[in-house]
Amino acid sequence: MLYLDNSSTTPVYPEVLEEMLPYFLEEYGNPSSKYYSLAENSKNAVEHAREQLGKFLNCSSTELYFTSGATESNNWILKSVSSSLPDHQVITTVAEHSSNLEIANYLNAQLNIHVEYLSVDRFGRINFSELESLLKKRPTSIVSIIWGNNELGSLNDIQKASELTAQYGALFHTDATHVVGKMKINLSELNHVHFLSASAHKFNGPKGIGIAYVKKDEDGIPRKLTPLIHGGGQEQGIRGGTLAVPLIVGMGKAAEMHQVAMSKNIKKLEKLEEYLVQLLTEKFGLNIQFNSDYTNKIPGIVNVQFIGINNEVLVKQLAPVMAVSTGSACSSSKPSHVLQAIGLSLEEVRSSIRFSLSSNTELKDLNIFQEL
Ligand code: PMP
Repeated sequence: MLYLDNSSTTPVYPEVLEEMLPYFLEEYGNPSSKYYSLAENSKNAVEHAREQLGKFLNCSSTELYFTSGATESNNWILKSVSSSLPDHQVITTVAEHSSNLEIANYLNAQLNIHVEYLSVDRFGRINFSELESLLKKRPTSIVSIIWGNNELGSLNDIQKASELTAQYGALFHTDATHVVGKMKINLSELNHVHFLSASAHKFNGPKGIGIAYVKKDEDGIPRKLTPLIHGGGQEQGIRGGTLAVPLIVGMGKAAEMHQVAMSKNIKKLEKLEEYLVQLLTEKFGLNIQFNSDYTNKIPGIVNVQFIGINNEVLVKQLAPVMAVSTGSACSSSKPSHVLQAIGLSLEEVRSSIRFSLSSNTELKDLNIFQEL
């Protein structure tokens, strides 16, 4: 079976698993325990992974906090920043992942915080004049904009959006879940990006672990977010809970491997994508319509309408030979809000399929499309 649902999740690299195993078996110490070597070894492993991730994202490792994944990071960052300034508005976009949209809706409904949702263009990108006019209208605590869209692959210009946001004195967050591992990220050059979320399982690490990047303030002092998870003082006292050492070790290793192979993987993904588009066009011609565009996007995500065909039926029919999806796994019971936001009719949304490739996919594997 050909796996083309890598935006939902990716397989753990064997080298990543190998690195994790000792931390289940021999090195099982709690990194918060003291004085004995089992605890010290676990603590060192956690800090080594933090360093690997710091190098991968070009930030200080002390600005990275381990969470259970991007869902938690998004919830934590938006809730903490906005509730410290409840009379300020939050600005996000209509094309965010459900974890971001749901916390924004919660902030509005439960905490009475004013929330604005930026519209997006035909490919899911924001409009800067709309952002500026919203920033002008009311004081803003935080602007949160997805970097690479999980359904279409389209990239937002995060540098430009964060610089504009800074002119109005607000903080800036980006959900970078689909950009990490697919694009070189240099947080040291993104001076006005204060927060970032990501999950390890999107870049061949384990599920259930992620990071929240929290930039130090202008004086180099760690920004103290209010905890979402209150507990035993782990993670500089702002994210409680015993650290998931094996998962953290796995995420660090996956980051290191992607850092080494980044340019090679990007080139391969671009080639695979080009070939997939060619095969789909040859096979289905006028019976398909591409929802993704070709430039300024994450390589390896292709979203296509199969005109007049129900996507659920198609995904089921393909399942014995190919794993694909109708969109985000986290909102798979509803028609995609992202595709509706780019202006597709419900019928068009219900005929759309997302193919997501990985550097493990081989060009020849895609020839299966000629046999469909
Ligand atoms: N943001 C985006 C853009 C995602 O695609 C996902 C996962 N589908 C998440 C956040 C949440 O990640 P997780 O389920 O690992 O918490």
